[in-house]
Amino acid sequence: MIFRNGLVLTMDDSHTVLENADVLVVDDKIAEIGPNLTAPGGHEEIDASGGILMPGMVDTHRHMWQTAMRGYGADWTLTQYFVWYYLESGKHFRPEDIYAGNLLGALEALDSGVTTTVDWSHGLQTTDHADAAVDALEAVPGRFVLAYGNIQQGPWEWSTSSAFQDFYRRRIDGGKLAGFQMAFDVTGDPAFPEKAAFEVARELGVPVTTHAGVWGATNDDGIRLMHDSGFMTPGNVYVHAATLSSDSYHRIAASGGSVSVSTESEQSAGQGYPPTWQLRRHGIPVSLSMDTSVWWSGDLFSAMRTTLSADRAREHLEAHGKQETVTHHHLRAEHVVDWGTRGGAKALGMDSSIGSLTPGRQADVVLLKNDASPVMFPVLNPYGHVAFQAQRGDVHTVVVGGKVVKRDGKLVDADLAAARAEVEATIDHLRSTLGEEAWKRGMNPDIPEARILHNPYQYTK
Ligand SMILES: [Zn+2]
Repeated sequence: MIFRNGLVLTMDDSHTVLENADVLVVDDKIAEIGPNLTAPGGHEEIDASGGILMPGMVDTHRHMWQTAMRGYGADWTLTQYFVWYYLESGKHFRPEDIYAGNLLGALEALDSGVTTTVDWSHGLQTTDHADAAVDALEAVPGRFVLAYGNIQQGPWEWSTSSAFQDFYRRRIDGGKLAGFQMAFDVTGDPAFPEKAAFEVARELGVPVTTHAGVWGATNDDGIRLMHDSGFMTPGNVYVHAATLSSDSYHRIAASGGSVSVSTESEQSAGQGYPPTWQLRRHGIPVSLSMDTSVWWSGDLFSAMRTTLSADRAREHLEAHGKQETVTHHHLRAEHVVDWGTRGGAKALGMDSSIGSLTPGRQADVVLLKNDASPVMFPVLNPYGHVAFQAQRGDVHTVVVGGKVVKRDGKLVDADLAAARAEVEATIDHLRSTLGEEAWKRGMNPDIPEARILHNPYQYTK
């Protein structure tokens, strides 16, 4: 197929931008990029004029199994999330509920131009749940990395079980998924029980993804234990990494790891201030993620926008505290577009195959174009347009490995009615298991007693 006359953000090493250029896709790869390309006969032609062509976006941390609970926890803090999922209700999820959440989450990702997603799947109480997770991911034509986890057991328990080993041999080794990670957190217990899980990861040769630097949950102690035992290896992904000391950032930088920043999540749930302002100082590679649809969407436009804004907000705040003024921003729109595409590819060790529009790489292509939208013209600053102006409704065409999965603003061959039926069955199950009162209480946490501060400047006598 060929895209004609688009504004192309290649996201290659020199961030080449081409105006009125064509992108030629042959089989599963990008064959050529440039003006007035000659296409072989029998090809499909897509008019990209007035639109922006960019690589498929990459989300490096998303709990897809939670998508069935979309928006339920909009008013939660991280504490309320932990209570609901870890302590009270997470154990009620059956394999079919994992399937339902993953299926909907996978469709949602493709619809918004996210062609590669890490399914941070920590609801895998049994390998039946894990099989269901993979079944859903394999049913949707995107790239998915399964990050295997289980919050109902210690990582030293599930990772060393024969059931897990058997699952890995059956579904992962030589399977259809784009990748595999082990997903677990390191609490900082000096006995370091997570060591056994790291040893399994090392034996399998797979990276670890871990929620690190999460206020009240994980901290510098976990980083130190991992580092001192030699488990901070390149390819590991540190999620959030928001409340860590400079010492921990040095250890991440020196060991070749990267950080997955979930700005919307960190801002709202309370893991810590979105850390890009610190990561930049320490030269730590960044990728972006949306975390969970229990609060937020699976939409990396939101991730790019909030990350850019949070980084700038921090810079202004720090300066104002010193009676100074920031006259020039360090973080540019171009940087967050890089983090949402190339940064994700690098974090997943897939930088030679995805992440940029470069001949020879996989054809994961997103066309942003919406002739009916007053927001899609003029396109003057294309990076700024992607980060601050565009949104998922502007995702016109999505291609994964040369296959069109969204065309003219609509998913191709996606059975949304079936996905809806699966999710409704999950909601029915959870709602009846929890009971109506607990269901409503979970969604509507108490508002704490308001404390009105005394304000001496009142319009009174
Ligand atoms: Zn998470």
